Amino acid sequence: MIDGQGRTIRYLRLSVTDRCNLSCVYCRSAACNEAPREDLLSFEEIVQAVRIACELGIDRVRITGGEPLVRRGISGLIRMLREGCPIADLSLSTNGLRLAELAGELKRAGLDRVNVSLDSLSPDRFRRITRGGDLGEVLAGIEAAQEAGLAPVKLNTVAMRGINDEELVELALFALDRGLTIRFIELMPVGEAVASGLWPAAHLPVPEVRRLLAAELPLLPAEAAPGNGPARYFRVEGYPGAIGFIAPLSEPFCADCNRIRLTAAGELRPCLAHDHGLSLREPLRKGNEVTVRKLFLQAVNTKPSGHGWGESQETTTPMADLGG
Ligand code: SAM
Repeated sequence: MIDGQGRTIRYLRLSVTDRCNLSCVYCRSAACNEAPREDLLSFEEIVQAVRIACELGIDRVRITGGEPLVRRGISGLIRMLREGCPIADLSLSTNGLRLAELAGELKRAGLDRVNVSLDSLSPDRFRRITRGGDLGEVLAGIEAAQEAGLAPVKLNTVAMRGINDEELVELALFALDRGLTIRFIELMPVGEAVASGLWPAAHLPVPEVRRLLAAELPLLPAEAAPGNGPARYFRVEGYPGAIGFIAPLSEPFCADCNRIRLTAAGELRPCLAHDHGLSLREPLRKGNEVTVRKLFLQAVNTKPSGHGWGESQETTTPMADLGG
């Protein structure tokens, strides 16, 4: 699919639930609205939507949420996607809490790789950022993912001024030592980050993060790790891991954006920063594939040229719906 700006759209971010077992300070409030269960797409409806998306040119799919590993039967969905859709790269983003338990079965079901969110290596700070998360469970999950061969295992770290900036080098070394790829992400003005007032005070531009790391680690430009994303990668001599930076605000990559999003309730969203979408739910429930196909093309056609955050730093988009 080619959008109105000439960008080829081949990457689908598929949210399978808007629920989460954490409430990170920049992502969702503890009392987040969740869609009624009957509004969620069933596994069969998800596979039907993804199969049509693949027929239209999507070949990379990332399963996300909310927290995708809280959706019951998630490995079954992965197996169904593998059997029903020609996906070249099937990945999943998780907070890692249930990964130690599920990594093996996710791999056996056909998942290629995982990204795990990790914003701190201090158990107390981790608990504060995630509002209750247990760091030990996430670290065990990362290890289990590596053992299961969900490679490359990538870590996503939101770099935040005054929150975790003093341990970014430690986080980088944690990844470098273990052969993991860590990506430092700029705080974005979405969801709870705005509501909690974290934005803009905690926004730490990537060039600053890069300088901070480069002062302690000699960063050498590297090939991109397998994936589809906007990260720029570096390595450090003598370490098996890699470091990436994702800078949606200070180094925007909208001109190369290749993605579209499908929410758990079946809404197609062409851009993370805009909450307008087109609902596939009814046509999927009626088995009306012609309409589903048209809606995909329509959504891609209306994809904005950019996130627009530089123009107005306000947004009301609830991150839980966005499938990060
Ligand atoms: N629960 C899964 C996880 O933890 O990866 C998937 C969903 S989560 C919304 C996806 C990613 O979005 C996480 O890595 C999270 O750190 C990131 N994220 C959420 N809110 C953000 C914000 N305001 N700015 C930057 N990244 C954000």
